[in-house]
Amino acid sequence: MPEDTSIRIPSGLLPSDGRFGCGPTRVRQSTLDHLAESGSSYMGTSHRRPTVRRMVGRVRSGLTELFGLPDGYEVVLGNGGASAFWDAAAFGLIERASQHLRFGAFSSKFVGVVSGAPHLEAPDVIESPLGTHPMPSPSDRIDLYALTHNETSTGVTMPLRRVEADGLTVVDATSAAGAIAVDPMQFDVYFFSPQKAFGADGGLYVALCSPRALERIDRIAASGRWIPPFLSLSSAVAQSVKDQTYNTPALATLFMLADTVEWMNGQGGLAWSSGRCAANAAMLYGWAEQHPMAQPFVPDPSMRSPIGATIDFRQPLTWAGLAGTLRANGIVDTEPYHKDGNHLRIGLWPSIPHSDMEAFIACLDYVIEAILS
Ligand SMILES: *Cc1c(COP(=O)(O)O)cnc(C)c1O
Repeated sequence: MPEDTSIRIPSGLLPSDGRFGCGPTRVRQSTLDHLAESGSSYMGTSHRRPTVRRMVGRVRSGLTELFGLPDGYEVVLGNGGASAFWDAAAFGLIERASQHLRFGAFSSKFVGVVSGAPHLEAPDVIESPLGTHPMPSPSDRIDLYALTHNETSTGVTMPLRRVEADGLTVVDATSAAGAIAVDPMQFDVYFFSPQKAFGADGGLYVALCSPRALERIDRIAASGRWIPPFLSLSSAVAQSVKDQTYNTPALATLFMLADTVEWMNGQGGLAWSSGRCAANAAMLYGWAEQHPMAQPFVPDPSMRSPIGATIDFRQPLTWAGLAGTLRANGIVDTEPYHKDGNHLRIGLWPSIPHSDMEAFIACLDYVIEAILS
């Protein structure tokens, strides 16, 4: 059933902001206002000078506070987003062999990077059916365990515990970071891009690195392995501690990230932001569980993502009809990642107030009733 653009949601039901995507996510208006107010004092100035370096410093100290990073951890920044970090990790973090938990599109991409690397052994890959997550299996052959805190493509989250083994625990936290509570003692690297829970823009990666991870980066860099300079983690570390990046960063991305991290810290930190997501999640999954035409895609409630929900719908409702009708009414980006299921993916981010989640559900109810009538 194609979208029915004749369905008009009454304006009184609409959320204050129609962006419900799973990434990129809504950028708060106040962040955009602050950026505009910076006028000629920030945008268009040199990233090697104090104005921009202070912004990088704000990002680093704000994230250190938000995550409660212990002494010796570093906040490392580089250009290229989480996808570039996978490439950088293949060169500069994996010694010989990695183990990957593969349970969706993003965890699969990291496997793809590592599988083709000529200087590495074939990775261990542990899979589980879509809608679930596998568990790591410690092994003497493995020097890096690649976990994904939240597999954004399917809406599955996994508990984050350090793998009890010699290898590093390296976590793709691209959608989880800032939205799910985490204990930094449980990871060696926690990496992410700013356009998900931090509601900034893409193009940058952030990697929270433990002393063990920093030691590994140094050792591989000194080993003589060829590493493309742009992907060198040791130069990313060396630049980051000076509040710089290897090459020119997108200044607006840094500004919006700093602004949002400080906003989260001011609201009550990670406990607050993860609490807001959990409350949004409880509202939406609760709605889906009791609706005769809907149900959460992930069967095990403990694995359901608190930041991006995948909700299945029964025929004659279709994802194209629902997402298209919502889009025609200004509620955007609820389309699925995999177009083979009949579901929507709906963001539950820290930037989404409960009143907007309630309004979203009221709009969905309205559209469903209108389509079925
Ligand atoms: C969005 C996402 C990525 C990719 O991030 P980019 O910034 O586009 O490289 C990687 N992993 C996960 C879990 C994601 O959600």
